[in-house]
Amino acid sequence: MSKHFETEAIRNQTERTQFSEHSTPLYLTSSFVFDDAEDMRASFAEEKERNLYSRFTNPNTTEFVDKIVQMEGAEAGYAFATGMSAIFSSFAALLNAGDHIVSCRSVFGSTHSMFTKYLPKWNIETSYFKVDEVDLIERLIQPNTKVLYIETPTNPGVDILDLELIGKICKKHNLIYIVDNCFATPYIQQPIKFGADLVIHSATKLIDGQGRVLGGVTVGRADLMREIYLFARNTGPAMSPFNAWVLSKSLETLSIRVEKHCENALKVAEFLEENENVEFVKYPFLKSHPQYEIAKKQMSLGGNIVAFEIKGGINAGRRFLDAIKMCSLSANLGDTRTIVTHPSSTTHGRLSAEDRLQVGITDGLVRISVGLENANDIIVDVKQALNNSK
Ligand SMILES: *Cc1c(COP(=O)(O)O)cnc(C)c1O
Repeated sequence: MSKHFETEAIRNQTERTQFSEHSTPLYLTSSFVFDDAEDMRASFAEEKERNLYSRFTNPNTTEFVDKIVQMEGAEAGYAFATGMSAIFSSFAALLNAGDHIVSCRSVFGSTHSMFTKYLPKWNIETSYFKVDEVDLIERLIQPNTKVLYIETPTNPGVDILDLELIGKICKKHNLIYIVDNCFATPYIQQPIKFGADLVIHSATKLIDGQGRVLGGVTVGRADLMREIYLFARNTGPAMSPFNAWVLSKSLETLSIRVEKHCENALKVAEFLEENENVEFVKYPFLKSHPQYEIAKKQMSLGGNIVAFEIKGGINAGRRFLDAIKMCSLSANLGDTRTIVTHPSSTTHGRLSAEDRLQVGITDGLVRISVGLENANDIIVDVKQALNNSK
């Protein structure tokens, strides 16, 4: 990156049109025109870099992707309609029937469903390690293992995996190392520095940061991105130009938003640590976090997700949600609005208590996606809800 993060996020912009607009316009066009037969031939032969059809590229999606590529220190990228389409398309493009994946068990719910329900249709199996079993990874690797997949920080347990250590294992065994960097954003953590080959984001979360649009993006090594691009170009999971326009605007404020999210989250985490109704708090930048040293090594800030264990288990967790007044009960995260969830009675309610523990979800675990309201107002709401959930 030639200039600083926030400067590039603002100044890395699609070329202006003849109207000299200051802000990038929205290019709502499904296709693009050619001057003559030769122009069309050369364009389809990829002898020229230009837009042909918005399923392939569009000025708005290109501007958005270029920014993420720069922020992550990647070589190339492609923008998808959702985070899940970025994840599915990346696996579908790179894997063949009979290939094998090694993944951390603590991954986003739909990613886990993809591994357990859908990829096996093509005879692609996944082996799992738990967040505290990084030393088991090498034993899970088989001759047909092609990809190692992780998220860090994990959802909803807010555990931290050592990006560098896992990167070395991938290098040694020649595995494609894929990191879902959604919880950290490229402002806080750039997995490519630690050996990741591909980085995936659900842009729906902190990248939009305002709860408006869905989006996803994969960036990384040019040779892998070429395969992913060709797959996406033919199978059609492209991000809409409108969403790319919104998301590129969102990136202009990513740095200041994330700074404030993290400042608020640390205050909420410190408050919770002192509260008598709280069993324990998980926040990467609290000294009490089990992987505090690793978090400090690979993240510049602690992120906006705080998890804590409320005393009194499932019922106390439900009472806490019922007692919340200002914060939202919602499945999203990374919004300007603070959101609280109780995974064991909601998103993970269909799992057995034993299966929940495999992903680090205890009965009283509450997840807070700390927003951009005044930190004191968030704390006042959380405090009264804790008092009323006894
Ligand atoms: C939300 C989320 C996804 C899926 O993204 P969508 O945009 O909802 O499809 C993937 N990974 C993580 C970590 C997420 O939080």
